[in-house]
Amino acid sequence: MTATVIDGKAFAAKVRGQVAKGVAKLQEEQGIIPGLAVVLVGEDPASQVYVRSKGKMTAEVGMKSIEHKLDVQTSEADLLALIDQLNNDPAVHGILVQLPLPDHLDSDLVINSIDPAKDVDGFHISNVGLLGTGQKSMVPCTPLGSLMMLRDHHGSLSGMNAVVIGRSNIVGKPMAQLLLGDSCTVTIAHSRTQDLEAVVRQADIVVAAVGRPQMVTGNWIKPGATVIDVGINRIDKPDGGTRLVGDCDYESCAAVAGAITPVPGGVGPMTIACLLANTLTACCRANGLAEPEGLTV
Ligand code: NDP
Repeated sequence: MTATVIDGKAFAAKVRGQVAKGVAKLQEEQGIIPGLAVVLVGEDPASQVYVRSKGKMTAEVGMKSIEHKLDVQTSEADLLALIDQLNNDPAVHGILVQLPLPDHLDSDLVINSIDPAKDVDGFHISNVGLLGTGQKSMVPCTPLGSLMMLRDHHGSLSGMNAVVIGRSNIVGKPMAQLLLGDSCTVTIAHSRTQDLEAVVRQADIVVAAVGRPQMVTGNWIKPGATVIDVGINRIDKPDGGTRLVGDCDYESCAAVAGAITPVPGGVGPMTIACLLANTLTACCRANGLAEPEGLTV
């Protein structure tokens, strides 16, 4: 079997197109422009790249992009004061604090100081609780993008066996909640799981969010299963330089799976698209307007 490739790049472009339409409608009919504020503390090179690309795509869909770049030495009090200001700014509908934060800052405290209604990353404890109890929330972007691709490919996920490898708060746990919400039978695997291969072999849907290059190989995959590869790992190429790979060994998994997301070009582009979708959703909710369809759960 050769797997269908789930093209996250094309899907993300479609989602951004839907967001841009929603933004244009808001502006035309209500005179409202959604605003996304991104706060970056320090000069971590990877974070700088993410923030630049978020700013560019925010502007491309017609939203207002507000960037706050703070010195690495910024005190917790100053960061909390900025978040308070953004919480109270009616032109800001989404707030994202780029993680990881420097060690002297308490990430949980900082994230939980964001107004939950503006928490477009979906990491605030209130949003975690709302998602866990099946209530309307802001949904973390990477799991949301993964779910959108699964729904698009399968239609209903009801009754499917899903194995999520990884139990982080930002990917694994919310992914498992979303799959449960769609009536999958969900197993969450992690570094202490015994006989991981056998666990994965039961899955109709495998979501790999581990951070270990090419760990999942084709012989772990049930024939015809759908593989969502969240991992982003940089490895050395034999002839010098580096390349990006996922947590799944693409060639061997694609030979057995029914469908698979590539790396790059799978889950990655969906993450930023869903950040924009969440900002539009937050803006509509803040203004008591109907949410655009298909952009959240
Ligand atoms: P974390 O490091 O927070 O979590 C990794 C999880 O994998 C942990 O739960 C850990 O288990 C588990 N794990 C580690 N080793 C093994 C193993 N040998 N067998 C089974 N489970 C294992 O990572 P994140 O969730 O933040 O990210 C995961 C991957 O997804 C990374 O590659 C990251 O770069 C990528 N990512 C991609 C995004 C995108 O936009 N595409 C966005 C966010 C992340 P335990 O809890 O027991 O330690």
